[in-house]
Amino acid sequence: MNAEPKYHFASDNTSGICPEAWQALEECNAGYHPSYGADAITAKACERFRDFFETDCEVFFVFNGTAANSLSLASLCQSYHSVICSDLSHVETDECGAPEFFSNGSKLLTAKSSLGKLEPADVERLITHRNDLHYPKPRALSLSQSTELGTVYRPGELAGLCGLVKQHGLSVHMDGARFFNALAGGTASPAEITWKAGVDVLCCGGTKLGMAVTEAVVFFDKALARDFEYRCKQAGQLCSKMRFISAQWQRILTDNVWQTHASRANGLARKLADGLGKIAGVQILYPVDANAVFARLPDALKLKLKSCGWQFYSFIGGGSRLMCSWATTETDVNAFLADAGQS
Ligand SMILES: *Cc1c(COP(=O)(O)O)cnc(C)c1O
Repeated sequence: MNAEPKYHFASDNTSGICPEAWQALEECNAGYHPSYGADAITAKACERFRDFFETDCEVFFVFNGTAANSLSLASLCQSYHSVICSDLSHVETDECGAPEFFSNGSKLLTAKSSLGKLEPADVERLITHRNDLHYPKPRALSLSQSTELGTVYRPGELAGLCGLVKQHGLSVHMDGARFFNALAGGTASPAEITWKAGVDVLCCGGTKLGMAVTEAVVFFDKALARDFEYRCKQAGQLCSKMRFISAQWQRILTDNVWQTHASRANGLARKLADGLGKIAGVQILYPVDANAVFARLPDALKLKLKSCGWQFYSFIGGGSRLMCSWATTETDVNAFLADAGQS
């Protein structure tokens, strides 16, 4: 008989809400506050973002990553434009056509990626191989940080890609559903891996970090944020009790709470990869730069782990994907490794 299903490593959104976010929700529950983001807590949270990124950016809060990505891309593009992204990118594979829908038809042009990252030569080819008016005009580059394969662009790699596309008049969108894991995985500052490298708009992930239902859209190029609040409202993404979203952000960006959770997830992913890598027949597929482990597992081992109840996906990146989150414990990792047969 099969064991109870265990979703610990299935994704980083199978976990609950982290204690700090939960406490923030409880604290802001008291009393009455202006609605739709006109409250003081929301103003303070936006101010925290400007401190965090050391720049005067425009910040908006939406409920999820699909909305953040598709609405921000729509604000960069007209319907006849195109967006260059990786063939593995969430905007291409997992958003049900929302970027095309909200931009009224902007086309996604995909490039093959290397370890989840876009290569400048491939991006340049997509931008330059046509310039006639029969082809959707490239207007934006979208890249994921960390990537869908758990790798992280280094500041130099980002600057190279951003510099290249800017020469051709494109703007840069960063899908940061796991931005904090990328940040915790390196030594660069928040500013250095965003606007200083050339990123114009960042979709900053809250849910996978440990918050409840929120992503922040951060415009470093404030001109691109024009009327963005109308897009949010029209798309059903304007939260009327906004303080419940912004209070969480305010807390998570204080006292390095983001770092505690992201570093923990990253560290345990590394431990999981190290343990798995010692098991005969297991191959770790990509560098573990953030909180994802991709492994090729022998079929028998996969079956054994599934019979022990472990749930994980095997449809991304050609292997089995194991995700760690703020809630992952050393005990969870050890239990998984024990079932995987590491002695
Ligand atoms: C999870 C994820 C998102 C956000 O997805 P939603 O389910 O819409 O919140 C966006 N990009 C990437 C790379 C993701 O992994």
